[in-house]
Amino acid sequence: MFDPEELQKKLIRADPGFYTIDVCRDMARKLDRIAALKSERNAVLLAHNYQRPEIFEVADYSGDSLGLSLMAGEVEEAEVIIFCGVHFMAEIAKVVSPSKKVILPNLKAGCSLADTADAEDVRRRIEELRRQYPDLGVVCYVNTTAAVKALCDSCCTSANAVEVITAMPNKTILYVPDRNMAAYAAKNLPEKTIIPWDGYCYVHEEIEPETVQSVRKAHPDMKILVHPECRDDVIKLADAALSTSGMVRYARESEAQDFLAVTECGLSDLLSIQAPGKHFYRACKICHFMKMITLDNVLKSLETLQPEITLPEDVQAGAERSIRRMFELTSPEKIPASLASTID
Ligand code: SF4
Repeated sequence: MFDPEELQKKLIRADPGFYTIDVCRDMARKLDRIAALKSERNAVLLAHNYQRPEIFEVADYSGDSLGLSLMAGEVEEAEVIIFCGVHFMAEIAKVVSPSKKVILPNLKAGCSLADTADAEDVRRRIEELRRQYPDLGVVCYVNTTAAVKALCDSCCTSANAVEVITAMPNKTILYVPDRNMAAYAAKNLPEKTIIPWDGYCYVHEEIEPETVQSVRKAHPDMKILVHPECRDDVIKLADAALSTSGMVRYARESEAQDFLAVTECGLSDLLSIQAPGKHFYRACKICHFMKMITLDNVLKSLETLQPEITLPEDVQAGAERSIRRMFELTSPEKIPASLASTID
């Protein structure tokens, strides 16, 4: 049973103005119902690091997109995955766990970055570039649709993009879809020719270097953690450029007390709750897609087991190949069991 007062004590660290006792009473009722339904449905609830604080209260696991999907492959006993994140992430969970029912509580929870790369446009661009660069390799960031992943040689994450491109035998690489991450990789790999797709995440693109500088001026000892989807002029100011899970690890393990997590605001909420002794300043922006997942639609999705994510067979097989290649190139020991079983 969720205690509204205990809930408020915790959530108030993320937003003192919003989590009133009345709001927390209502949330506690819904959280109780969600917890009961999860067990009735044999469901596991996975929450991305940018979700609303109350979602973490009922999540079985939280993490970044790939970490969660790997977790999806490991929770063998669960029959249903409620994926609290955005559409492309739920698709990865389906690719990694094809036998489970994967539910995304709100189908409108998309991603502006993934939407910049339409599969047909990517197919045409690959054909055009292969005429010019016969050795072209294609790497796609996890923030792409499964249909785009199926067209790529290898997938990558923000944590291993440079490692994946280094391990690819091709000198020329089309990197889809984040132009900021392509620029970051190109700077680190002068021996490769990296052709960027012109996509960006509207949340990270809006973060200005002046905002970060003004917080640093006021708190010169704090550590600045920046997501690689940010612009180059923001990444330059970072003590470390990390994935969201990398930021959580860094903040937990560092002896520093003050941090600025330059990414979507949900991560600062999560860190404020999980590391109460430390201080997290904000130079963040809100992703309205991530906030489309609410306790109400999670509850409804558990009641109805809808909306379900399904993939055409060829897309499922192609996306699986591209995700598996990423592990083969970087960390074969981490290949999820459900993917490992398909290795020829
Ligand atoms: S923060 Fe950006 S990349 Fe992440 S889901 Fe939102 S729009 Fe997509």
